Amino acid sequence: MAAAATLLGAPGGRSAGADRLQAALEQAARVPGRQLWAADADTGNLLASAPRGSPALGPRPPGSLLKVFLYLLAADRLPGCLSALASCGSSPAAVRALDACWDRRGHGNVGFREGLAYSCQRFASMLAARVEPEAARAFFRGLGLQVEPGARAGGKAVQEGARRRAAELTGHDGTIRAEPLALLAALVACVNGGYLYRLDGAKPVLVRHYLWRPEAVRAVREGLELAALAGTARVAGLKGCLAKTGTAPTLLPDGRVDPASTQGWAFACLAEGRPRVAILVHLDRGIGAQAAAVAGKALAIWRAAGDAK
Ligand SMILES: [Zn+2]
Repeated sequence: MAAAATLLGAPGGRSAGADRLQAALEQAARVPGRQLWAADADTGNLLASAPRGSPALGPRPPGSLLKVFLYLLAADRLPGCLSALASCGSSPAAVRALDACWDRRGHGNVGFREGLAYSCQRFASMLAARVEPEAARAFFRGLGLQVEPGARAGGKAVQEGARRRAAELTGHDGTIRAEPLALLAALVACVNGGYLYRLDGAKPVLVRHYLWRPEAVRAVREGLELAALAGTARVAGLKGCLAKTGTAPTLLPDGRVDPASTQGWAFACLAEGRPRVAILVHLDRGIGAQAAAVAGKALAIWRAAGDAK
């Protein structure tokens, strides 16, 4: 633990611990098309990023990572959501995932925590129907995400109001986008007591302190713990982490989303300890579960180097 403490960003230069985290991220990022960032969830220090010198990624859809914010907003503003249930039955492949669930077997009766852990589309669509859309957009903007009206899949309209709202607020249509460091900062705020930092500078800047309802924060945290143990990140070796995966459409050269291929995201944050390392992984091509495995690999390499117990 003593070595880990050196990672907390002592002024005046990088520590050996930070260098080991950087090395772990670089090793995990050796396959082309992978990028990783690591921050201290409690101080907002950006600890490492890899591959070194890679160009900054522009705003892009976060896929189901967006659900973390939707769940938190719903739980904070509409506490009844915490005891709500959604029935997620099986569905044929011909039905779009937005209209049923990505898991064709269905998740059964799903509560708030399971809905987040399994990234159940039916539960998320139910939340999207309950929250006020403008309030959700304002919430996303406040967290540093970008709301881009008209940037819908291939220019095709998603017709019905409820369906369109579900597509937007659950990360299906690319309307909401985020730069990776803004996305990491927003996710970190959801698990560090509501402290939203700006991570792009040499020193973190506290942008805002949210005072969300404690039971809302707790339920989101439990959902993210369950995601690592039994949900969409369960095979990634992220036990002891808060985790969430995201699979999002890629972007065409003109900036519209391309529903024909996907990019993968994963967020993983140590549930406790110091430093509480939070990692964001992006894959140019792939799905969220694959990104989670990369996060697991980076943390395993770092732990093996002796910086975490
Ligand atoms: Zn489901």
